[in-house]
Amino acid sequence: MNTTDVLVRCEAAARTYGTGTAAVVAVHGVTCEIRAGDRIAITGPSGSGKSTLLHLLAGLEAPTTGQVTWPGLAGKPRPDSVGIVFQGPSLIPALDVVENTALPLVLCGQSERSARRRALDCLALVAAAHLADRLPEELSGGQAQRVAVARVLAAAPRLILADEPTGQLDRATGRRVVAVLLAAADTLGAGLVVTTHDPRVARSLSRQWSMHDGRLQPGLAEAFSPSAPATAQDAEP
Ligand code: ADP
Ligand code: MG
Repeated sequence: MNTTDVLVRCEAAARTYGTGTAAVVAVHGVTCEIRAGDRIAITGPSGSGKSTLLHLLAGLEAPTTGQVTWPGLAGKPRPDSVGIVFQGPSLIPALDVVENTALPLVLCGQSERSARRRALDCLALVAAAHLADRLPEELSGGQAQRVAVARVLAAAPRLILADEPTGQLDRATGRRVVAVLLAAADTLGAGLVVTTHDPRVARSLSRQWSMHDGRLQPGLAEAFSPSAPATAQDAEP
């Protein structure tokens, strides 16, 4: 693997929702590159454009102006090259947990039997193997979030994007999920981008970026900088 591979590149990429006086600029011209081996945390207040930027990086949204390209992924994101853990509910209600987790593999042509085996292995990594037979409606928010992480790991993507994957988890489980994402990214030689409100999670990745009003800048969001007053989240347990 060439660790200087640029998996995705944004060049002055912007995304506006709506038009006229109702227009919201969710992301202003962002220029950035994510390479294999990168471990990037993005912090920033709610509404600052973190999810929109992740959707641009995943190719789920097209930029209104500017460009997003995937030079290291044969020019185009695919379900088995880019994996995203969505911020909101994303499991398919009619499928049980193991079927949800195996789905990307089955869609990519793997036999159901081997897809199921890999799905169970990935569920075990996030301590969710015991949930295999449950339907999404029978899961807590945190359990569903762990299953969504397992589903991304199962597809073994080169670029892993996780949108507040610890948002609904207690601190210990959150740490475990981040450790699993970091280990999976190492094993796969992937790039990893995690958005988070938790400064501890942000610091567990090797680089920190932040978003403010749709603009991306290097470093942790101001609220987490050393000069900011300590918050309950920052305090030692
Ligand atoms: P964050 O993830 O940092 O909370 P988002 O990317 O979700 O921020 O949102 C950035 C801004 O874009 C917000 O003002 C939000 O209301 C707006 N926005 C996001 N998605 C849409 C959409 N589909 N339609 C209209 N506005 C949207
Ligand atoms: Mg968001």
